Amino acid sequence: MPKALCYFDARNNGGNDGGILNNNNLHKKLNLHSTTIETPILWLGHDFKNPIDIWTYLPKCDGILLNAYQLLKTQKVALKNKNFVLREILGYYGPMFIDSGGFLFQRNGLCDIKAEEIVELYNNVKPDIGAILDIPINYVKTNVANYRRWKTTLKNTEIMFSNSDNSYLLVQVIHSHSTKAIHYRVNQLKKILSNPKMICIGSLVPLLKASHIGSKFNIKQNPESPTYQRWRLISKIIILIRNYFPKSIIHVFGAGSLSTIYMLLLLGVDSIDSVSWRIKAAFGEIQLPGLTSRRIIKGNKSSRVRKLLTKQESSILDRCKCPVCDKKSMEKKLKLLFEFKNRAIHNAFVLTSELEEIRKQIKYHKLGKFISDRVKNHKTFKKILNDIIFNELESNSLWRLKQ
Ligand SMILES: [Zn+2]
Repeated sequence: MPKALCYFDARNNGGNDGGILNNNNLHKKLNLHSTTIETPILWLGHDFKNPIDIWTYLPKCDGILLNAYQLLKTQKVALKNKNFVLREILGYYGPMFIDSGGFLFQRNGLCDIKAEEIVELYNNVKPDIGAILDIPINYVKTNVANYRRWKTTLKNTEIMFSNSDNSYLLVQVIHSHSTKAIHYRVNQLKKILSNPKMICIGSLVPLLKASHIGSKFNIKQNPESPTYQRWRLISKIIILIRNYFPKSIIHVFGAGSLSTIYMLLLLGVDSIDSVSWRIKAAFGEIQLPGLTSRRIIKGNKSSRVRKLLTKQESSILDRCKCPVCDKKSMEKKLKLLFEFKNRAIHNAFVLTSELEEIRKQIKYHKLGKFISDRVKNHKTFKKILNDIIFNELESNSLWRLKQ
């Protein structure tokens, strides 16, 4: 077993040495107005334009994440009705988290919606959790332009906290691609709310997906590959924010694939959301534990390069207990998974059951070993885990012990 791995699981063993990832920290409970959530928690992204009532297909759905911007645009008429009850319209009564949809303004930074409108929506809809209207940073813009975006997010935070009717948990969102700036931004947020129950980290999606980052991680300036540079920065940002808010639930928006989720949870993230179950399904892909996404449809016109499911790998699919695959022959499974909705259901099941497994491993203090095993055949994530994440965790904890 690698040294770093022993180190992680030992520190995760309910230790009392102030380690940032002891067992109590990996499992948190939060009482909300109408429900209680437990971490780690996965919120499944819901799309109003092409809805799938995924909660009706799964044995367990931690919660759903909705987009306020999309809700305002698609339910304009319905929202005018004073008796508008979103839960009844959806037929969903479990934990509900609404994100403002600020990420839609990432490219141009121009937001055509006001913080007052979003907070009014939250006051009417009464989700369990509502996020501040934030303007994510754009890695290809100047520092000045990004600082302006942050000032808007901060202003929106003040407006929304003073207009919330407190019938839901309003959560702040922090954005920074510089570890230096985090210190100042944390202080600015703490002036509004000093001990938040939950805090979200935004602007990580470009780093996670390597999209819209320009030449920021140029290999000429740094011999380390851009992927590893990105993950080093992601790790530093999360660990730093984790340390500033040791008792808060940390949420990262747009976690994406399983491999990414594994890494984020190890870094101390408690709550994640994903629409990958739908997006991957739309590209003809399925998710399977221990593998990156696999295509099951030949000749897909997608520009994404994903491997086709091999015969050897199909043994993992053979064991799938999702509502689509369970008790079906391989031939029948593949036929059913030809349909978008069935692939989406399968993918959501894989995500939620993997989270269930992760909760079990946390209980047995074996999360590090479990995740190490899950990525053992994935060259890139194996290296990210061993060379970056474990190292960053270790050096951070040593730093803490010296304080
Ligand atoms: Zn399945």
